Amino acid sequence: MAFLRSAVWRVFSAVRPPLSPLCRTSTRSYSSEPTKEKSVPYEKTLKQEDGASSGPTKPLPRSADAVVIGGGSLGCQTIYHLAKMGMTNVVLLERDRLTAGTTWHTAGLLWQLRPSDVEVELLAHTRNVISKDLEEETGLHTGWIQNGGLFIASNKQRLDEYKRLMSLGKVYGIESHVLSPAETKDLYPLMNVDDLYGTLYVPKDGTMDPAGTCTTLTRAATARGATVIENCPVTGIQVRTDDIGVKRVKAVETQHGTIETPCVVNCAGVWATKLGEMARVKVPLIAMHHAYVVTERIEGIQNMPNVRDHDASVYLRLQGDALSVGGYERNPIFWDEVSDKFAFSLFDLDWDVFMQHIEGAVNRVPALEQTGIKSTVCGPESFTADHKPLMGETPEVRGFFLGCGFNSAGMMLGGGCGRELAHWIIHGRPEKDMYGYDIRRFHNSLTDNKRWIRERSHESAEMIKELLYEQVV
Ligand SMILES: Cc1cc2nc3c(=O)[nH]c(=O)nc-3n(C[C@H](O)[C@H](O)[C@H](O)COP(=O)(O)OP(=O)(O)OC[C@H]3O[C@@H](n4cnc5c(N)ncnc54)[C@H](O)[C@@H]3O)c2cc1C
Repeated sequence: MAFLRSAVWRVFSAVRPPLSPLCRTSTRSYSSEPTKEKSVPYEKTLKQEDGASSGPTKPLPRSADAVVIGGGSLGCQTIYHLAKMGMTNVVLLERDRLTAGTTWHTAGLLWQLRPSDVEVELLAHTRNVISKDLEEETGLHTGWIQNGGLFIASNKQRLDEYKRLMSLGKVYGIESHVLSPAETKDLYPLMNVDDLYGTLYVPKDGTMDPAGTCTTLTRAATARGATVIENCPVTGIQVRTDDIGVKRVKAVETQHGTIETPCVVNCAGVWATKLGEMARVKVPLIAMHHAYVVTERIEGIQNMPNVRDHDASVYLRLQGDALSVGGYERNPIFWDEVSDKFAFSLFDLDWDVFMQHIEGAVNRVPALEQTGIKSTVCGPESFTADHKPLMGETPEVRGFFLGCGFNSAGMMLGGGCGRELAHWIIHGRPEKDMYGYDIRRFHNSLTDNKRWIRERSHESAEMIKELLYEQVV
């Protein structure tokens, strides 16, 4: 049996490529190919044998009130909320099958507490949708697992932050408890608590299932009259100039027909920049590799809460009787050539980048040192300059909305953001104060500056471990 630390070192030394000049720079850029075959923790995916080549799963309508592009977390949440708010003449176009982009391999962690009241409300809404609303509406279980969440404080400042989070949570009715190291050990016997100041335990945190969530969302949306069409890549976006010189969305083009519409919602994940180019709209996000590994079985881990150790920048997600180990990488790898063929695909894991998570994880749960790795999951994710999503109507083209750039939180923020986006489209503004996510927060001198976007997004992703109260922007 290959144990975590030794297995990693063996793989690391065997596959590590010779250092190229590029590797020596601080922000490396790999033009990575997807791996040919990958063992992932899911028994099957939504991908079918015939794939995208079989043509659209439904005929395209001639017109729609809104067209949502992308069948991942954000696209499915947005069409569900549009339909629920009464806009039912809406179409979702997915180039492959639902979840094929980033969503299918997400870790799916949902923490309810963040240091912003708006974000706490967004997260609470996602949790309501996937744990209650969808089940009531469709009779289907989304796959939500409520195993709780545990934030680790290994210094006093971090514990103080968690105490403030607990106070904020009280306002919103979110149950949480600050635990001493001894209480933490009682809750999580496999945890090393010797270096802990304390923890914050949130019993109703949990884990979302990507396939179950997206299938149920689209089932509920179509029951209200929305149309979901897979195997249908968008190839162009028509824009017209109105009588007073304002640019407006006119239609969405595909190889299988054109849909006239005054409203397009770009939920195309790391591909959103390409969709933006079709409408001559800047979408300032960067695609980078983001990863976790899945361990072999760990005796005694069943039913444990998910763990987030901000100081070590690592999370431990319960995966049945094993753990997924991941976190925000130091020096994450750019995906420069975002491929349209990339569906249900993964990259090879770069152990050089990932290794820091192993150290943090083994320190927190020492049993991991004697545990093998079952599979690695490394996929593309979008990152932005201030580590916040890109939402709302773009200043360049009226009727062209963004719902992308989710910085590895697109599952947990999906429900709240899908609802705000739907409100924005229907009522002309979001219900909550979404300025921090609004694309208009960036001056066009910044969205035009590719180098700034690239370097700042990389830096923000790297610095996320320090992020709680101390925002990096
Ligand atoms: C390893 C990893 C772990 C993660 N863990 C978590 C976590 O624990 N919790 C969390 O909240 N988030 C997590 N995330 C982030 C989360 O998974 C993403 O933020 C989220 O899935 C993004 O959803 P999306 O809908 O924006 O993009 P995607 O899922 O990529 O969806 C975009 C869709 O657009 C489609 N598309 C692209 N081009 C076109 C076109 N021309 N026409 C039609 N369709 C098109 C794609 O096929 C794709 O299906 C993780 C991400 C990774 C990589």
